[in-house]
Amino acid sequence: MRIVINNELNKFYSYEELKGFFLRFSKLPGFSLEQIGLSEEGEPIELLSYRQPAQRVSGKPKCNSILLYGGEDASEPIFSQTIFWLLSELSNADSQIHRFATNWHFVSCINPDGYKKNSGWLNHPGDMNCFLENSWEDIHSRMIFWKSKERMEHKALKRAIALSNPDFIYNMHDESHFPAEGYKFAFSSPLNLELLNPHLERVKDFMDVSSEELLITDCYGRDPRFSVYPAFEANNEVFAFLNESCGYKLKTDTSPGIFIDIGSPIYDAIKKFKKLQIENFSEELQSSLFHTDLLIDSIEGKEEFNSKMLSITGYGLNHLISKGVKAASEIKEIYQEHINTHFQNTYDPIPVWQQVFTQIDFLFTILEIKGILVN
Ligand SMILES: [Zn+2]
Repeated sequence: MRIVINNELNKFYSYEELKGFFLRFSKLPGFSLEQIGLSEEGEPIELLSYRQPAQRVSGKPKCNSILLYGGEDASEPIFSQTIFWLLSELSNADSQIHRFATNWHFVSCINPDGYKKNSGWLNHPGDMNCFLENSWEDIHSRMIFWKSKERMEHKALKRAIALSNPDFIYNMHDESHFPAEGYKFAFSSPLNLELLNPHLERVKDFMDVSSEELLITDCYGRDPRFSVYPAFEANNEVFAFLNESCGYKLKTDTSPGIFIDIGSPIYDAIKKFKKLQIENFSEELQSSLFHTDLLIDSIEGKEEFNSKMLSITGYGLNHLISKGVKAASEIKEIYQEHINTHFQNTYDPIPVWQQVFTQIDFLFTILEIKGILVN
């Protein structure tokens, strides 16, 4: 189906806006809203469902239900716009989206506390300095890998899975994984990748599709550490898929990849920051220390350097500065310098509407491949 998106769209929804439109849509025909849990800080996590009128689902549907969620990684807000677009289409009885014969279920935000911590940059996508000032990310053992301790947020997701009993699960991310820069996706079981070529053709001007790592895995979620794992316990046939759209694209006239040498000023600054965090350690610094260690590992392992990961540690720098640790201000200046010379000049931000188009085109492509399109 044709996907039409306003090409001036270039912001993400704040957490308040996200809650607001969930409530608004819940009052429209076909929709219903249910609270499925609370975050650790007491924010409600909700499930908004759209059920097809019975006459639309004639014959035996191959898919009764699809569950969509995002925000697992706190600094990846793309799902807010992707979900809004889908809800708008579902609220329009004449939309082509109704050719997909399925009931739709959307989780409001699986990590509200983390999402709220990122609110300062959501109106300025692509501005890495603003991202340095305002971004925040959980350590991986708290969100994307959660073997050690089940969080309240995961209980909510389990509840969403139980209530929606999905045949399909779509988990939406946007790039900030380490050290990824390119477009990525993952499937819970193998898929004939040639069938994705029309999709890649449609998004190749938007996304960095050059990477050989387009496919992260074809067993996504089947490891008990992953958030989606309870879905396989409930129904081993469920097909889960993940999309990680890009927020940045390498400028065409620059050479790919940034590699940092041991002994360079940015390496020294990162090592100094690590020392400061250990000396002044508090729980507030857990996340930035975790990401600082990843950055050090990448330099020492001679891997490509991820400047967005560097920005995620800005939360820790600002925390130390607020505590009067003067050396943190100097480190922040070096970080800003690196971002301005090695990132802003090397990468172009991808407008939000192109990221949304990519996520929706991917979703519809998968549903078509799986035969969910009727008439
Ligand atoms: Zn992610």
